[in-house]
Amino acid sequence: MLTAIPNPDDYKNVGIECLVQAYKSIFSVDNGEMRHGVERGQIWKYNEIVLRTSIVLIHQGIELLLKSEVAKKSPLLLIDQRRGEWKTLPNSGDESFTDLYTIGGNDLLRTFYACIPANSISEDFITHFEDVRVKRNKIVHSIGGEEISPEDVLKLILWTFTFLLGPDSFWESVLDKFYNHPGHEVGDEELEFEEIQQYIHLVYLEGILGKGELNNHFKVDLKARRYYCPTCTAGGGVLVKGDDSVEEYPSGKWAFLSPNAPDSTGLECLVCRESFDIERKDCNPTEGEPCKGNVIYLDEPGETDEDTGEVYEEDSFICLTCMRDQHKDKHQVAIE
Ligand SMILES: [Zn+2]
Ligand SMILES: [Zn+2]
Repeated sequence: MLTAIPNPDDYKNVGIECLVQAYKSIFSVDNGEMRHGVERGQIWKYNEIVLRTSIVLIHQGIELLLKSEVAKKSPLLLIDQRRGEWKTLPNSGDESFTDLYTIGGNDLLRTFYACIPANSISEDFITHFEDVRVKRNKIVHSIGGEEISPEDVLKLILWTFTFLLGPDSFWESVLDKFYNHPGHEVGDEELEFEEIQQYIHLVYLEGILGKGELNNHFKVDLKARRYYCPTCTAGGGVLVKGDDSVEEYPSGKWAFLSPNAPDSTGLECLVCRESFDIERKDCNPTEGEPCKGNVIYLDEPGETDEDTGEVYEEDSFICLTCMRDQHKDKHQVAIE
């Protein structure tokens, strides 16, 4: 009989790991510490190997994700050996799946399409896979020549996720495989505000690829109005930098109305993935001119004496457009 038959999730996890690792390598080069005044082009010339190995990883990642889909029907469809050679008859002994050859390339692609419902993934995936395959072959067969930019490789990673696992899957995988890390300590010498890491990814990707491109890979509309997040932004966290300068929570806005409608009372943050209830009223800050914001969050509920109804402490609201405290509503003062 056949032993050690893999399941779809085994393939999927390793596939995602290949893709996240490719992303992580590129991100690290672009965000590494370096001397001032060195051009990015020079850095990437030195690090070309990172882009080449990333392409190999992307190709590997795609094949694994395709195999995962095929394995949902049956992992046996992945075996390349003729059936006449299968050790499956009684008394023919055991054979481990890991010792068998499995299909790849065109055979895998055809089997994959036989296993999924028609039109369930974008037509453009075929071109995408072919593009990755050709680039990868040139690399592994050392037929060089083609110049490739980090932006191109980042796009190949993002599109692989989006074609095969849908929008949001890249970001969820990065959060899961990258930063929910057992060795990642809050309060280490440089970072007291862990969420800054996620902000940096988003700011980096948006900066390098542009909002329009990045928007293809998220469920929320990144072009919609953005807000501060009650948890991440107001967490009281600070980023202590290497030179001991301190930056009070990051200034990026990555929370969006959910649903994205004028009367929506929900807010969702891309960084902490939390959802919040918000109130729609005009910003009325305790200091300075009001802003045009109308997304107001109950930051701290007030306190009321249960017996007498006397209000000890008013509710405290903040505006998620400007983060300023809001005037307290005097009408709530209780009567005896
Ligand atoms: Zn948040
Ligand atoms: Zn405001």
